[in-house]
Amino acid sequence: AGRWAKAMTILREFEEKSGTPIGKLRQVADAMSVEMHAGLASENGSKLKMLISYVDNLPTGDEHGLFYALDLGGTNFRVLRVQLGGKEGRVVKQEFTEVSIPHELMVGSSDELFDFIAAELAKFVATEGEGFHLSAGRQRELGFTFSFPVKQLSISSGTLIKWTKGFSIDDAVGQDVVAELTKAMERKGLDMRVSALVNDTIGTLAGGRYFNNDVVAAVILGTGTNAAYVERANAIPKWHGLLPKSGEMVINMEWGNFRSSHLPLTEYDHALDIESLNVGEQIFEKIISGMYLGDIVRRVLLKMAEEAAFFGDIVPPKLKVPFILRTPEMSAMHHDTSPDLKVVGSKLKDILGISSTSLKTRKVVVELCNIVATRGARLSAAGILGILKKLGRDTVKEGEKQRTVIAMDGGLFEHYTEFSTCLESTLSELLGEEVADTIVIEHANDGSGIGASLLAASHSQYP
Ligand code: ADP
Ligand code: MG
Repeated sequence: AGRWAKAMTILREFEEKSGTPIGKLRQVADAMSVEMHAGLASENGSKLKMLISYVDNLPTGDEHGLFYALDLGGTNFRVLRVQLGGKEGRVVKQEFTEVSIPHELMVGSSDELFDFIAAELAKFVATEGEGFHLSAGRQRELGFTFSFPVKQLSISSGTLIKWTKGFSIDDAVGQDVVAELTKAMERKGLDMRVSALVNDTIGTLAGGRYFNNDVVAAVILGTGTNAAYVERANAIPKWHGLLPKSGEMVINMEWGNFRSSHLPLTEYDHALDIESLNVGEQIFEKIISGMYLGDIVRRVLLKMAEEAAFFGDIVPPKLKVPFILRTPEMSAMHHDTSPDLKVVGSKLKDILGISSTSLKTRKVVVELCNIVATRGARLSAAGILGILKKLGRDTVKEGEKQRTVIAMDGGLFEHYTEFSTCLESTLSELLGEEVADTIVIEHANDGSGIGASLLAASHSQYP
């Protein structure tokens, strides 16, 4: 009984430290909006890079022709081709393929990574068949979605600032990733031009806008997390270029790197950060996104095992292995509705080697998953409120019919139902009923691929 009480003390303490009462969420939202201003004011003015994307026009629907897109940004990469038919035909046909990236390539050399990607792309191009037509005499064109922080130099070039999400390829940092990809395509004999370099948030925003005119922001909740939105160009003091004709500029916030004294960080988060590949960086991402949630659960369970013999006298050795408990498994346990929590039982056994757990123990594991997911979801909602505040869309103006759509994508949002429902209900709670009725979160299923190909089309070398 003493052990159980001790374990519960650890759990309750974690719960308390990671609490997200509504007042705290408002502080986080305010801090997000303050940092957005600071990041727009000057280079390195904030933890939020607020990167200028060079996308000053979102898709109109007139885009026409065959375009490719390549999405690199997590554990998989996707290649896509679309035949665009303008306002009438829209997306006439699309095909894609997904390839997982061998782990050694994520920490190897730039050439190895880009050679692998170019080779897969070349294979995919070779399967181009009926329904896809490249106009005579034209070169194939590609929208490259590269979801790591990039200092954009133009719509079709940019240098890698740093890796995130478990990638670490030193010789690529500071390089123009489009030049790297282009050289690799040349090495493979693939004749293709990269006409747009974007990240997944920009791609999702562009894809979202193509289907819905009210889309003004995009949020990714997948392996990592990030957001982008449409800013008024004259509200970007650090922009010294010509004001775009549209008067608008899409900003890639890189919000994963947000941090604030208002964030409810615990000892487990500090330990995770210190043992990570990017110490001190991406703190918001490390408490919200799919790469990390499962590992936070593991860390709390390990403490309960070590200090309160929660799983018996022996600390299960596998519980000490970083990232052994992945977020999809955590999510499966969290969603277990069977009376004896048999999914939880089998996951604990299969992943952590902990057999014959009691129902009481399993219930605690579910509760822990809930605490970790709830914090992540509520903080994501607070981040979105920060953007809405910056846009002045967190209130409704008298007599104005206002509609704001946020395009959302990423495996965490898509598959972790407890997470996404909590996010949506928290956002409503923060906004109040009247404003909440004007805000829509739209799941843009792989909108980023289509979005990148649309941007490739609107930035084509051919008139
Ligand atoms: P990426 O972010 O790598 O580009 P995705 O948007 O597909 O790719 O997101 C994949 C991530 O989503 C995984 O790393 C995982 O963290 C999370 N995820 C995938 N499936 C689930 C699931 N069933 N439950 C919770 N999280 C999931
Ligand atoms: Mg992705």
